[in-house]
This record gives sequence, C-alpha cells and structure tokens, in this order.
Amino acid sequence: MPIRRRVEMPKLPVEERMRSFKEVALGLTEEQAVQEAERCLQCPHHPCTSGCPVGIDIPKFIKMIAERNFREAYRIIKEKNAIPAITGRVCPQEVQCEMKCTLARMGEPIAIGALERFVADWAIREGIVEEEIVKEDSNGMNVAVVGSGPAGITVAADLAKLGYDVTVFEALHKPGGVLVYGIPEFRLPKRIVELEINYLKRLGVEIKTNIIIGRTYTIEELLKEKFDAVFIGTGAGMPKFLNIPGENLVNIYTANEFLTRINLMKAYLFPEYDTPIKVGRRVGVIGGGNVAMDAARTALRLGAEEVYIIYRRTEREMPARRDEVINAKEEGVKFQLLTQPVKFIGDENEILRGIQCIKMKLGEPDATGRRRPIPIPGSEFNFEVDTAIVAIGCHVNPLIQRTTPQLKTNKWGCIIVDDWGRTSMKRVYAGGDVALGEATVIQAMGTGRKASTAIHQDLKKK
Ligand code: FAD
Ligand code: SF4
Ligand code: SF4
Repeated sequence: MPIRRRVEMPKLPVEERMRSFKEVALGLTEEQAVQEAERCLQCPHHPCTSGCPVGIDIPKFIKMIAERNFREAYRIIKEKNAIPAITGRVCPQEVQCEMKCTLARMGEPIAIGALERFVADWAIREGIVEEEIVKEDSNGMNVAVVGSGPAGITVAADLAKLGYDVTVFEALHKPGGVLVYGIPEFRLPKRIVELEINYLKRLGVEIKTNIIIGRTYTIEELLKEKFDAVFIGTGAGMPKFLNIPGENLVNIYTANEFLTRINLMKAYLFPEYDTPIKVGRRVGVIGGGNVAMDAARTALRLGAEEVYIIYRRTEREMPARRDEVINAKEEGVKFQLLTQPVKFIGDENEILRGIQCIKMKLGEPDATGRRRPIPIPGSEFNFEVDTAIVAIGCHVNPLIQRTTPQLKTNKWGCIIVDDWGRTSMKRVYAGGDVALGEATVIQAMGTGRKASTAIHQDLKKK
C-alpha cells in the first residue's frame, strides 16, 4: 500500500486575505480529517502524548476520528484540554506533539493540531459544547484566579468542575488575555475565544473585569476577606524596548500597544469603533517571533504598502512558527535579515522618518543555542520607514510581585513556583507566563492544570 501523504490544511487565497481580517487557515473537512486520522499508526508507546503539555490521549482521539465517532473524540480531548478550538489553532504543534510523532522521522507527522481543531469546530457546529457541563456540587470553598489568559482559564475551569466557587479578576474590560488582545482575528477568531469563555461562565465561574489586583485589592486582602486560595496568572505583557536613541518619536509603537488597539479596541473597524490607529506607507517591524509576524501581517491588512520584518539573525533562527513565516511571506511581508536598528531618525516635528541600522553576521551559539549576531563595523545604513513596531518580547507583569513582598521572584521578575505551581506564600499559586517567562498557550495551560491539582490537594486537607 503506498504511504499516504499528510493532509495539509486549506487556506484562504492570498488576494482574499488582504484587506480583511478573515481567518486564514480554513480547517479540515470531514473527509480530510478522517483520511489524516487513518494515517495514524496507533503506536503502543504513543510518543506524541509526551509532547503535549496537558497530556491529551492523542492516539485515542485520532482513532475515534478514523471511526467517525467525533463526539467521543471531543470527549477525550476535553478531558485534558479546556480550550481545544484555541490550541488546535495556535499551539506550536511542530515543536510539541507533532515533533514527537513517530512519523515525524519520515518528515510527515500526523497533523495532530489540525485534527484537534477539526473535532473542536465540529463540536461547536453541532452544539455539543453547550451540553458538556459536568461538575460536582459546591464544596463551599472559594478560589480567586487573577488574570483570564489560558493559565487562569484552565485553573478556573478545573476547579469549578470540582465544586469550588471560582472568581476570576481581570484588569482589562474583556477576558481572554493574549488570546483576545494579542493574537489577531485572522489567526484566532474572537468568537471562538468568546465561546470558550462562555463555557467558563456556564460552569458557574464569576468573571470580574476592570479589576487590577495589586491596586483594587491586594493578594493579602483576597486571602483575608474571602478566598481559600489565590492563583496568579497575570502573564507577560510589559513590552521590552530597544533602548536606542529616538524611541519616543511619533509613529513608533510597541507590538503590544499596536495589537491591543486593533484586537481589543477594534481599531480595524474605524470609524465604527472610534479607536484611532495610523499605519504608514512603509512599516518596519523589529523582531522575529510570532508577535512580529502578527504585527507585520496586521499592518499589511490595514493598508501599508510595504512591510518589513527587521531581524538581527537569519530566518533559520527565527522563533516564529514556520507556518506563520510562510503565511507572512505569501502575503507580501519582506524580510530584512541580519539587521539591527541602532537609532530611530525623526524630522523637525519628531515624526519618524527612518531607522539607522547596522548589518550583522552570525558568530558562535549563545545560551539559547542560536548563533549570536555580531555587528559588522562600518556597515551602518539608513532604512526608510514611516511607522515602526517594536516586537522584541515582553517582561512579566510586575504589579502583584511589587505589592506582595512575601512572593519570591527570580532575576527576571517571574514568580518562583515549585513543580506544582506553589509559590513562596501559603495558599498562593502561580502559572503561565508570569512564572515561566514568555511561553506558549499550551504551556500556560499545562502549568494551570498542575496548579489546580495542587490547590485541590491542599484545600482537601482543610
Ligand atoms: P496572558 O494570556 O498574558 O493573560 C494574563 C491576563 O492577566 C491578561 O488578560 C492581563 O490583562 C491580566 N492581568 C495582568 N495583570 C493583572 C492584574 N494585576 N490584575 C488582574 N488581571 C491582570 N502562544 C502560542 O502558543 N501560539 C501562538 O501562536 C502565540 N502567538 C502569540 C501572539 C502574540 C501577539 C502574543 C503577545 C503572544 C503569543 N503567544 C502564542 C504566547 C501566548 O499567548 C502566551 O504564552 C499565553 O497567552 C500566556 O498565558 P497566561 O495565561 O500566562 O497570560
Ligand atoms: Fe498538540 Fe497542543 Fe493539542 Fe497538545 S493541545 S495535542 S500540544 S495541539
Ligand atoms: Fe499516531 Fe504519531 Fe501518536 Fe504514533 S506517534 S500514535 S503515529 S500520532
């Protein structure tokens, strides 16, 4: 029998993608999903599962797809993953479950993420998501979850199902964390995130928005006044800067600010929504991760004529997902590689006119294992742009750490936790980016799952 090729997910044609925020990856059809599921070898040791931070029983759900029992496939996934329609879309599967797949050695691992997304979308279409509420009776204990990103969502869902009364406190006016304010609509439609948040609400979780913990209430106050335990999942949302001259010029954004204005405040629907955003003719996005790709592709959709990714290493070292680099290229984003900005250039009105850059070459690998970029003396040149977006990463949000001196942190300000999310403070747990540093959706969920297990174990003893 000839070895079947991996089924690739259909995508929206490039001309339709541009000037719209429609989802680019279209999902597998039923026939495609079954065909892909039939390729799975059902390996007895299923190495794929060890690559999933929340431990989904991957061969089992794939077998159910092959048998067209999508409902059971959904049940199996949902046992371990509260938000499969989201992870099926944004998980870096190629370095997680798919990397561990036996078939990866032959270059064509099972498309586990696409199959997961297929099942989750099927469940949404069939209304199964609405039915699947199984929870224990209230045990009378209260848990506060600070932050409503993937880490907080996981803890809230797990504990609500176990009978805890859970209250989520969110600083912004909408719950969802980066899923809502960071990742753009064309990669993760907001109606999908809303559905998953509604699932939390149906589990009885109370979500209080516009409340900043560390300001409105402190962690100590939460513990004293009502809550038996507190989980901190406040993420990493404090942008890093290049710290080069001219960074305060007009029309320089951080990627966080740029994407938040567009996603959360719907600037792309101006004037229907009155959030102003100005994207110039030639845009330079500095960075090589997912955030940089998102910002660059968003700028193109907002009407920029030319968008450049300015990155100090080569494409090989880019931390962005491979698929997103391909999508960006297909859409016309240009790559200015081995280039480091040294100074922003403005005019007499302090408006950005260009970036002075220097050429780089690659040296020996650094601590991250990637080859270190080294400036080439005398190679400075001016790069004309009228908008710049700085996407070089974020620090963890520091407010709670500052207002809770009992919480131990590391040199990057991350909250120090044990393997189960316990912090240095009794009854206080943490997970997601605020403990890991910038990570991924599923890693945030994995730490959330561990913390909810620890909270349940510790509170049971009470
Ligand atoms: P977050 O999602 O950051 O949520 C934290 C929440 O806490 C926020 O809503 C914040 O408003 C709230 N908060 C902060 N401080 C307080 C406070 N004091 N009181 C109350 N609330 C507070 N990962 C992937 O796996 N795949 C991707 O494709 C991907 N793309 C990304 C694209 C962008 C643009 C960005 C920014 C990140 C991306 N990531 C991606 C990373 C991923 O989104 C994060 O790792 C993940 O969201 C972290 O989850 P979290 O729950 O720890 O925090
Ligand atoms: Fe793979 Fe992510 Fe799904 Fe786990 S949650 S099986 S890592 S796509
Ligand atoms: Fe199927 Fe790959 Fe997992 Fe084997 S390793 S069970 S082929 S998904």
